[in-house]
Amino acid sequence: MKTTECDREPDVLEAVISGCWPSAKPGDELRAHASRCPECAHLAAVAVALRAERDEAMREARVPTSGQVWWKATMRSRAEAAAAVARPITLLQGLAGVCAAGMCAALIALAWPSIALPFAAIGPLLAREGQRISAVLSAAVIQPAMLSFAAVLGAALILSPFVLYFVLSDE
Ligand SMILES: [Zn+2]
Repeated sequence: MKTTECDREPDVLEAVISGCWPSAKPGDELRAHASRCPECAHLAAVAVALRAERDEAMREARVPTSGQVWWKATMRSRAEAAAAVARPITLLQGLAGVCAAGMCAALIALAWPSIALPFAAIGPLLAREGQRISAVLSAAVIQPAMLSFAAVLGAALILSPFVLYFVLSDE
């Protein structure tokens, strides 16, 4: 199969791309050439079909308006800023929760000293911290104002590594 090229093919292609080919005037010299030249006629037919396909795709494309794009970008930046601000708050809430849990544990241990014994078997760290808390608690019986401070301090010492791990790993 022999393929031939015509010197006017770039002109035909340019006319189709620029959109003036289908609406060319009847006396147009290029159109007269395409009626005689099979290469240019085939090129024009294919190029017109592809251009019509492109125009149809352009009409059906749903491009959001600039206002919608701006609104979405604003909402996203606000959400990211809120998340960045809320991260330390979440950390503080976690610490407060740990302190409250430690306070409850200290109060329970103060009310029922036999309960504190199994906690000491969890590990050397808990045992050491439990002894410190118990020592402070025994003194706190005399000074009730020391009770909450000692409980909070002991609970924070014991549980803060776990809370920090869970809060910071929540990315
Ligand atoms: Zn030609």
